[in-house]
Amino acid sequence: MRCRLRRFTLTKAVPLAISRGVTSSVEHLLVEVEHHGLRGWGETGGLDTGHRHYSTEAIAAELEPLLPQLADASPLEDQALEPRLAGLSPPARCGLDLALHDWRGKHFGQPLWRLWGLDPGACAATSVTLGLGSSEAVLARLARWWQQLPATRIKLKLGSPDGLEHDRALLAAVAAALEQRRQDTGAACELQVDANGGWSLEQALAMLPLLEAHGVVLLEQPLAPHADPADDTAGFAALHPHCPLPLVADESCWSLEDLLRLAPHVDGINIKLLKSGGLGEALLMARTARRLGLGVMLGCYSDGALLNGAAAQLLPLVRWPDLDSHLNLVDDPFSGLDAEADQLQLPRGAGLGIEVPVAWQQAPWQEQA
Ligand SMILES: [Mg+2]
Repeated sequence: MRCRLRRFTLTKAVPLAISRGVTSSVEHLLVEVEHHGLRGWGETGGLDTGHRHYSTEAIAAELEPLLPQLADASPLEDQALEPRLAGLSPPARCGLDLALHDWRGKHFGQPLWRLWGLDPGACAATSVTLGLGSSEAVLARLARWWQQLPATRIKLKLGSPDGLEHDRALLAAVAAALEQRRQDTGAACELQVDANGGWSLEQALAMLPLLEAHGVVLLEQPLAPHADPADDTAGFAALHPHCPLPLVADESCWSLEDLLRLAPHVDGINIKLLKSGGLGEALLMARTARRLGLGVMLGCYSDGALLNGAAAQLLPLVRWPDLDSHLNLVDDPFSGLDAEADQLQLPRGAGLGIEVPVAWQQAPWQEQA
């Protein structure tokens, strides 16, 4: 098979601020696999979880020397390919994993969710994200989301560098706006909170009663992730007995190994393809989490519709979908991931079911981007 990379930029309509900083645009990579005249595409890009950082440049530098070495491989030989991709970082592996899954699905003429036997009737609505900011700015962002789609599941970023008082004010303002929406339209909204590791254990414990009082349905990653697995587990273990709402690990949970380590101390995990290294590990994690009685959240970074369309293949297994990044892009080059109201639709096309621009599809193979 032949493989190559293309770089492209994704620009947010509204920059997103979280506890670690602000993102307004990113550079991502398109991974293309061609075999027997059929092409598969994957998307990847850099990410930062506080304790781990991968730049898009570093991911490209990993993939560029490997791709020519795969000339003798076939996208059908998943098991034979596994050890050859095992040394890659999770986001580098993700790009190739998605292109290979896309190729296989196209080869068999079916979307991946159908090949996996998943139930298209089991999909939940996606949440939309409110970043950090002043209460006025965050309420304006919420109003803008509601102009775009009738969102019923709202995810609020907390863990502000400005401290707990700011977090309390933001939470109260957003909860009041949701109550007003319910009174005005009859539409009840769910509120989730993601602190992105911005709280200490003491701060998290102090916030729990307020989260409960405002009816928050889910708390994601309150404490900073630790590189040492024992320290990381200890934070969740200390908080979980006191947490009256579902506690979900995001930055702390990258792999099946992390899931098994954290399972006794959380109520759910947030799977993201850039952390898991693609759909192979993500499917294993989603099925294992459900078997263990944990809720599955499915999230994104500043990703385009190719990455989110790949993640959407898992939607029937997901209790809390959180795939809204492509809805906040002004230059997403991909199409095929549609929404009805606030519910993402399973892509209907074979493979990942996502279209790339015609000019990219027709690019001669010898022209490297
Ligand atoms: Mg999160």
